[in-house]
Amino acid sequence: MIWDDIDRELAALAGNGLTRRRRTLDSPCAPRAQVDGQPLLGFASNDYLGLATHPALIAALQEGAARWGAGSGASHLVSGHLRPHQDAEACLADYVGLPRALTFSTGYLANLAIVPALVGRGDAVFADRLNHASLIDAVQLSRADHVRYPHGDLDALAARLAASRARRKLILTDGVFSMDGDVAPLAGLFELAERHDAWLVVDDAHGFGVLGPAGRGSLAAAGLPASRRILLMGTLGKAAGLSGAFVAGDAAVIEWLLQRARSYIFTTAAPPAIACAICRSVELLAAADERRARLSARIAELATGLAGLPWPLLPSPTAIQPLVVGDNFATLALADGLLAAGLWVPAIRPPTVPQGSARLRISLSAAHTADEVAALCSALARLAGQEPAR
Ligand SMILES: *Cc1c(COP(=O)(O)O)cnc(C)c1O
Repeated sequence: MIWDDIDRELAALAGNGLTRRRRTLDSPCAPRAQVDGQPLLGFASNDYLGLATHPALIAALQEGAARWGAGSGASHLVSGHLRPHQDAEACLADYVGLPRALTFSTGYLANLAIVPALVGRGDAVFADRLNHASLIDAVQLSRADHVRYPHGDLDALAARLAASRARRKLILTDGVFSMDGDVAPLAGLFELAERHDAWLVVDDAHGFGVLGPAGRGSLAAAGLPASRRILLMGTLGKAAGLSGAFVAGDAAVIEWLLQRARSYIFTTAAPPAIACAICRSVELLAAADERRARLSARIAELATGLAGLPWPLLPSPTAIQPLVVGDNFATLALADGLLAAGLWVPAIRPPTVPQGSARLRISLSAAHTADEVAALCSALARLAGQEPAR
């Protein structure tokens, strides 16, 4: 029967320790959560600054729905573009310091918009090997050649750019890599983009709101100049505590996306209440230096607390702190051991990460306390068969 393949594939996933399991939260997104009936301390969400439950954002959503209704009713180019959507574009462009921005319902849709709008058959996309899945899908959708370079390797990228005969070139990278937590060499990437007349597209899902002066993101942190060839994608479901995404850059390039990007045109605009909350979130982000300092403190505490464990903590300066175990089953066992101790850290396995590099993805937030990070460190030390760290 036609469904026999599915039964076989599901059994194969289980046999390889690759079955994904959802957990249901009976509490809002916060470190202290009620999960499938069990109280857990979570290190799993991307709510890096603890804004997902901020009263000002909740109020903005409530007031936005009361004023503008629940749904937008149509796509942006038909009749779904309300005043709050227009205002949100201006707030975002102003915050990241680029001429114009366009909002999307999700980051996945934003990435699917950018790449096919800029390149197609006969062109080439030069992509970091560890780019997010949505960027990989975006390149496939564009039909451009997908030239992948070793993670963060500028020399390898330079060689591939020099060897390429593609008509148009695009360099595509995460700003902060979602499963490794390290930062892309943006200054070097921009220099190569200039030298080879390429676009530089940066997916800043994990840098927006967190890195750089006032949290303006990875480009600001790298001190890159405004340039027509740079496009910045940021998401609003992570540090911004909300939902959605935006693309910012040169006004004409953004106009081109608005005219041509299918994942912008053929989808209903997000609820206007979300757009209302975006400007509020941007204000909170701009004023969140204290939260960013708290997050930095937690990152430093974790690195100290986990030193000497048998599993290496990847050198990440961001909220994403990967503890690489390697084997899928060993990683699951470690995650289960933590769960038994009331700690929730997701086990990330292939194909999200390369084969043999399964890991615990410890995700820190300004909402965590020093004691909570210490509790995670001592639980891991216990599971490693070591004395709890002092
Ligand atoms: C989360 C994420 C996305 C997708 O954003 P959504 O708004 O969740 O669809 C894209 N790129 C990266 C690097 C991400 O981590």
